[in-house]
Amino acid sequence: MMNYNISLIKGDGIGLEIVDEATKVLNVVGKRFNINFEYKEYLMGGCAIDATGHPLPDETINGVLDSDACLFGAIGGPKWDNMPRELRPESGLLKFRKAMGVFANLRPAIVYDELINASSLKPEVIKDVNIMVVRELIGGIYFGEPKGRTETKGWNTMVYEIHEIQRIAHVAFKLAMKRDKKLCSVDKANVLDVSALWRQTVEKIAKQYPEVELSHMYVDNCAMQLIANPKQFDVILTGNIFGDILSDEASMLSGSIGLLPSASTGELTAIYEPIHGSAPDIAGQNKANPIATISSASMMLRYSLDEIEAANAIDNAIKKAMNDGYRTSDLSAYDCKELVTTSQMGDIIASNIR
Ligand code: NAD
Repeated sequence: MMNYNISLIKGDGIGLEIVDEATKVLNVVGKRFNINFEYKEYLMGGCAIDATGHPLPDETINGVLDSDACLFGAIGGPKWDNMPRELRPESGLLKFRKAMGVFANLRPAIVYDELINASSLKPEVIKDVNIMVVRELIGGIYFGEPKGRTETKGWNTMVYEIHEIQRIAHVAFKLAMKRDKKLCSVDKANVLDVSALWRQTVEKIAKQYPEVELSHMYVDNCAMQLIANPKQFDVILTGNIFGDILSDEASMLSGSIGLLPSASTGELTAIYEPIHGSAPDIAGQNKANPIATISSASMMLRYSLDEIEAANAIDNAIKKAMNDGYRTSDLSAYDCKELVTTSQMGDIIASNIR
């Protein structure tokens, strides 16, 4: 029997509901594949502000660092929107990622056949799309110095050290090796010196992965290609700000925010979370789609715990639920045979695994 310590940060709003469905599914998959999960819950975001006065208590940082991986719901809500910037839930999230050293953000954009009509693009353009965006998460222009503003001027600095590019490139090449062995590195090397270093460094790393077909694309062209012909991509590797924008664009190919998971990994630990926020408009109503979080739990099994069969079992169980026409209210307009609640969707996916 394998044992894993999983830290849980449910957070605020629908975070409380969706993480419970993910642990429900993990427990069932654990029984089937002889895996034991020990969970410990930590506070972050608005609930942490209410309980401790701070969005990111030290206990949370230490607890997550001690665990094998962290499953995260979502944080934030109108109740805390008027706090000073450094005390807002979202500031806690940026500090949390930096403290955890999670430099690689993996965001799959997968189009489920059953939901092909939920996308705003034509079915023939998006059928079989399966892209993994690998975004550098703790460097680049969001963290670079100098930065600042006066009354009349504002500035930030896009800076990458070569080791930061090397380590994220290795993550992307290794992922490509497990997929279709195609990697597209996205930059703005025609204009930015930092991008020229990025491109040169990725080319050098590529020599260690001769089986992977490497291409380069300027970020503006990539933004167009994602809409015009998304099937050409397998793994997209890019820096922090370009990845922020492109991963949101790529995720919308699938048409639904409630479906998509993400992983943020580094040398110390990894955080798995849905791409959506705490959805205050539907919180507490048992209406949220738990699939993005359940799918994040599957990524945790695959990428942190190396429990590939268990991860596949979850992915297949989600597909079956979609195929059988079960939909939460966010997707009720798309081939819905039965409208279900958050907890019913969790039950259905769990029973598909049994
Ligand atoms: P959001 O993602 O919470 O919601 C956007 C829309 O999508 C809403 O209409 C919501 O009901 C819907 N939605 C989101 N997830 C859903 C799900 N699983 N099932 C069904 N519908 C879903 O984004 P927002 O409204 O811009 O932000 C709300 C709060 O969440 C804010 O405080 C924001 O700062 C925070 N936020 C947190 C994170 C995070 O924790 N990582 C990410 C984004 C936003």
